[in-house]
Amino acid sequence: MKQPLDLPELTVRVGGSSGVTIFPDHCRSAEEAFEHADYALYHAKLTRRGAVILFTQALATEIAYRSLVEQEIKRADLDREFHLAFQPLWCESGRRTYGFEVLARWDSPVLGPVRPDVFIPVAERCGMIGALTLSIFSRALKAASAWPDDVLLSFNLSIKDIEAPQILEGLLEILARSGFDPHRLVFELTETAVMQKLQIAAGNIRRLRDLGIGVALDDFGVGQSNLGQIHRLPVSALKIDRSFIADICESTVSCNIIRTLNDLARNLDCACIIEGVETQEQAAVLKALGLTLFQGYFFGRPMSEAAALDRLQSEYASSHAA
Ligand code: C2E
Ligand code: CA
Ligand code: CA
Repeated sequence: MKQPLDLPELTVRVGGSSGVTIFPDHCRSAEEAFEHADYALYHAKLTRRGAVILFTQALATEIAYRSLVEQEIKRADLDREFHLAFQPLWCESGRRTYGFEVLARWDSPVLGPVRPDVFIPVAERCGMIGALTLSIFSRALKAASAWPDDVLLSFNLSIKDIEAPQILEGLLEILARSGFDPHRLVFELTETAVMQKLQIAAGNIRRLRDLGIGVALDDFGVGQSNLGQIHRLPVSALKIDRSFIADICESTVSCNIIRTLNDLARNLDCACIIEGVETQEQAAVLKALGLTLFQGYFFGRPMSEAAALDRLQSEYASSHAA
């Protein structure tokens, strides 16, 4: 199916995902076989387009959980059930917290805490993402307004948020109304999402940049960027995916990759932020490689709004005491 079809005017590419179940090992009737294969197909479309996925009981449980999440998110009171965590962004050369990334948290009264990598894709699929993004964004701006005016706010956007004109307009309207300086705001978009929707993303990224807003490519390095396209995107930062630094202390290959990604960022004239730094040893290796912008548990875990403010105040106090 993957073979391209060459027609006189164009080349057509088609693809297909499939779900498989095995009779009689995994199902007992024709109905059940269809249902299971359909589950597996649904999962393939959702997570690994173009793949062949075999039905398992774990898969059925996962899919059932996601549909419960969908049901609950649709009736959730977004402003009350969702709250914000703030994770420090650390600048080693200035030895200071130069910003915070906002991370959404959901405490569902029915399901308990639900992880963002579960509820964000569900919200995207069921059309709730816009409302959720706007609710989180206005609260994030309010929190960041209490910070010193050289501290940045980094905010995750789903590709759906910039695809849909009304969500992007909503964000810009909230920003304008808040009086928050656009130069202190960074929107994070995953590299994978941007590459999938390159045309629309590029236009909107340029528009945000023209307003003074920073744009960071998140989880950079795991997506399939085409370097020829990347240099046309006016991004302000690359956030290197944490998978690259997991074995940085043992692997010279990983060190070389980090060095290359850092050079790439420099050539693109944008900042290079290393995510997921968990240990002092990792931090030491990365600093020796010349990196200066970090995020990760070693530099600070996601924290409450009050704790973020405390952290800024105590940094300020100690820098003025020194
Ligand atoms: P992300 O944008 O890559 O955010 C970083 C994730 O890595 C966060 O997980 C954070 O808690 C975790 N993390 C940070 N430092 C470390 C570390 O040193 N080690 C390890 N193992 N993990 C670390 P979290 O909060 O569960 O968020 C997961 C993903 O959900 C985020 O990945 C982001 O893509 C998405 N997300 C979270 N909040 C929002 C939001 O408000 N809007 C959108 N669109 N997506 C969001
Ligand atoms: Ca992020
Ligand atoms: Ca990331």
